[in-house]
Amino acid sequence: MKTKKIIIFLLVIAVSYLAATYRWGDSAHSIGLIRASGGEARHPSFLGSGENDYTLIATATVIPPYRGDARVALEGEPAIEYKIYLSGPVVDLGIRRNPELRGNVIYGLKPKDRIALWVVMKPPLLDPVCRMTRMDGFLKASYAGKDYFFCSEGCAEAFGKDPEKYKNNAHIKGAYNLAFYDTKTNRPVLSVPVIFKGKGEAKDAGGHQH
Ligand SMILES: [Zn+2]
Repeated sequence: MKTKKIIIFLLVIAVSYLAATYRWGDSAHSIGLIRASGGEARHPSFLGSGENDYTLIATATVIPPYRGDARVALEGEPAIEYKIYLSGPVVDLGIRRNPELRGNVIYGLKPKDRIALWVVMKPPLLDPVCRMTRMDGFLKASYAGKDYFFCSEGCAEAFGKDPEKYKNNAHIKGAYNLAFYDTKTNRPVLSVPVIFKGKGEAKDAGGHQH
């Protein structure tokens, strides 16, 4: 009887842990204002580390009198592979004209438009010792059920001597920027900081990101 209760208790913890990871670990939501004078993000977006891909949902309102086309880019080093999707209206009655996304450019933004973008990101794996982006010809080693890649024998050896020290370093960390540029003036109309946290920091350090 007692064992059963403990098992149920552990299951509850496991489920809420998974839910929390899902909510905060690999996805974030950000709200911004698109303005001719540079725009404004309500807050940075925090993303966890150690996942294979991440989704950022960015919603933005166009502040009058801005109108134009905006190119969207995820900026930062090392470069991250990403894809942008623009969500259409849930119900499209064909009455309202909607901005359109083609080749990372949002066409036809007008005052008071509200847009929602999904940015799906695939950060590269890094050599956990020297933090170089993984390339062809990298050496591979496994530790604790995970694969790691190294630029050289030297880095592989350093890892082998103290894997615990390096095991959380194979993922990107730090600040990126989701930038929107007016295609005519090439000036930013919104920029949203996107912060990748170190492994294990995501669940406690960021608080409730919404
Ligand atoms: Zn290296």
